Amino acid sequence: MTNQSCLILIKPDGLVKSLTGNIISTLSETKLKIIGAKVVSVKKELAEQHYAELKAKKPHIFESTLKYIMGEFHTPRVMALVYYGEDAIQKIREIAGKTNPEDADPITIRGKYGRINSKTGVFENCVHASDSEENAEREIKLWFKPEEIVENLYPTKKSKKTEEVLDWA
Ligand code: GDP
Ligand code: MG
Repeated sequence: MTNQSCLILIKPDGLVKSLTGNIISTLSETKLKIIGAKVVSVKKELAEQHYAELKAKKPHIFESTLKYIMGEFHTPRVMALVYYGEDAIQKIREIAGKTNPEDADPITIRGKYGRINSKTGVFENCVHASDSEENAEREIKLWFKPEEIVENLYPTKKSKKTEEVLDWA
C-alpha cells in the first residue's frame, strides 16, 4: 500500500456533455484526495508531449488523438485534476474503465459516458488517467506548476524567470 498521485483529465467531450460533476462524483467513490484542479485550453505542444508514448505505440491514431484532446471535435477545454492517496492509480484506472468505451464495463466512467464517434472513429472516452507512477510524475509536471498543487509531491527548485508574463491589468 503506497500513496500515489494520478493525473486525471476530463476530456473535451466530457465538458461539452456537462459531465464534470458526474465524473468527479464517481471518482469520489475512491475516497482519494483532490490536490490540484484547473481548466486548460490545450495547445499542440502540450498535447504532443502528453501523448509522446502514443506516437510510437499507435501512430495511426496519433493525429486524431491530438485533435481530440485539443478540443477540435468539441470545445477547446480540458479539466485537469490531480488525485492523491493509497493505490490511487489502480483505483482510478478501474473506475475509468477500458480505453475502448465499447469494451469498458458499463458501470465505469468510460462505459457509462463514452462512445466511438462513427464519423471520426475517435474513442470519445471522456477521461485520461495516468497508468503508472512514472507516467503520473511526468504528466503532473507537464500539466501543473508546483504552486498549483497543495502537496509537495516532487522536489522543487527556485529559478528566476525573465520572460514577460500576462498579468491582470
Ligand atoms: P488509456 O491509457 O486507456 O487512455 O489508453 P492509451 O494510453 O493506450 O491511449 C491514449 C488515448 O489514445 C486513449 O485514451 C484514446 O483517446 C486514444 N486511443 C488509444 N487507442 C486507440 C484506438 O485503438 N483507437 C482510437 N480511435 N483511439 C485510441
Ligand atoms: Mg494511457
